[in-house]
Amino acid sequence: MLSLANFAAELEREKARQRTHDALARKAAARHVTGGRVYGYDNVEVLGAGGARSHVVRRINGAQAAVVRRIFAFTVEGLGITKIAKALNEDGVTPPRRASGWAPTAVREILRRPLYRGEIVWNRIQKRDQWGIKRYLERAEGEWLRVEAADLRIVSEDLWQAAHRRIDTTRALYATGGRATDRPDQEKYLLSGLATCATCGGSLVAFTRDYKRAGQRGRFYGCNYNHKRGAKVCANRLLIRQERLDRVVLDAIAEALDERLLDRAMQKASSASGGRQTKRTIAGPPSGPSFRSWRPACGPSWTRSRAATPRTPSGPS
Ligand SMILES: [Zn+2]
Repeated sequence: MLSLANFAAELEREKARQRTHDALARKAAARHVTGGRVYGYDNVEVLGAGGARSHVVRRINGAQAAVVRRIFAFTVEGLGITKIAKALNEDGVTPPRRASGWAPTAVREILRRPLYRGEIVWNRIQKRDQWGIKRYLERAEGEWLRVEAADLRIVSEDLWQAAHRRIDTTRALYATGGRATDRPDQEKYLLSGLATCATCGGSLVAFTRDYKRAGQRGRFYGCNYNHKRGAKVCANRLLIRQERLDRVVLDAIAEALDERLLDRAMQKASSASGGRQTKRTIAGPPSGPSFRSWRPACGPSWTRSRAATPRTPSGPS
């Protein structure tokens, strides 16, 4: 009985989901706003007969539209998303939402948004999977709903095409063995994501850079915000050679290890082999003082942290 009741409830939920979906589809087809804000537009409420809010439509925001066109023009000139983000931050252009400066990913999102060429695409992304879990999945193109919205066009067709030709060319170049430079590589490096920038709280990332003097390339750690969003967002330009920082940290870990962990491991091992399994109270986590107070030799600019969430820097936005 219980499972039958559950089944009925699930069926009801599914029907409700379908009704919501249909209602949203009708709204999208009528060009009413179904989601939140989109950079480049203002959401304008349209009032119904009784003075109550009937629906919301978009209207081009002139200043933001100019920024969108600038991003496309930069792309045509051959600038990548990181360089564009830095240029916008350098000029003090207000970023979308309350982000701390323009991020390369925000620039990429703008370059891909069909609304800027006057096309509303709805139903492209599925926000929940079949079990109702929040996930973002792209639907098959046949399920997309496209509505023309020429009055919402911000980027001319010529500019859109030119920018996307450039993006495709660059992608093809990388695919055929061209070198993607300055890519943070989170997995390969010991400290990526483990330390934070003392200036802005952003995460420490590793990337390769050319040595100025020797004419070779080398690996460095640096602040992600400075690296990806520019000096206006975080002024910490400190780069530390990967080998050097890794060695210092490994030394510190080794020091912490031999004092507490190794001792504990030895005790555990010997009590296990002794046969008698008395429950041993183990001292708290190995927060060795040498690790906690550790600072790199070359400056005060990094702090260690476990949290993967960078704090929002208080610098200029
Ligand atoms: Zn920083």
